[in-house]
Amino acid sequence: MATFRTGIGHDIHRLVPGCTLVLGGVTVPADRGFDTHSDGDVLSHALVDALAGAIADGDLGVHFPEDDPDAEDARSLDFVTSFGEHVRQAGYAVVNVDSFVVLGPIKLRPHLDAMRANIAEALKIPLANVSVKARSNDGLGLEGDGVACSAWVGVLIQPVND
Ligand SMILES: [Zn+2]
Repeated sequence: MATFRTGIGHDIHRLVPGCTLVLGGVTVPADRGFDTHSDGDVLSHALVDALAGAIADGDLGVHFPEDDPDAEDARSLDFVTSFGEHVRQAGYAVVNVDSFVVLGPIKLRPHLDAMRANIAEALKIPLANVSVKARSNDGLGLEGDGVACSAWVGVLIQPVND
């Protein structure tokens, strides 16, 4: 019987006027974005954390340290590609990804399919196995106000030779 494993991931970063908003490797037109290490892509960061959790192997910061000079201008979707390979080398295949991004004032829905496609390509899994949803938080809290943007990700993996 296949030994399925699950992982969850969460990330949140502050939004700063004039910075670039990148989510799932997609640059979303917006008046604000992330001002942090790498491109601040909370969806990609949460996804790596979910994958790391599924194989019980540390977290994003362990594998892609913030103080690494190479990470300064890194594209976070590349972290997903790299960690997807790490998961395969650990003997697992990603079954599916479910996720949502929480952000109030910026419309994300037109960009969700592009995020799905990027994630599917990065993990080498079918598009139909990747879900990205958007929530406005009903104007409540940091994400609802557009002060920050967060992401939640769940993944399922299974052993390749099982
Ligand atoms: Zn992050």
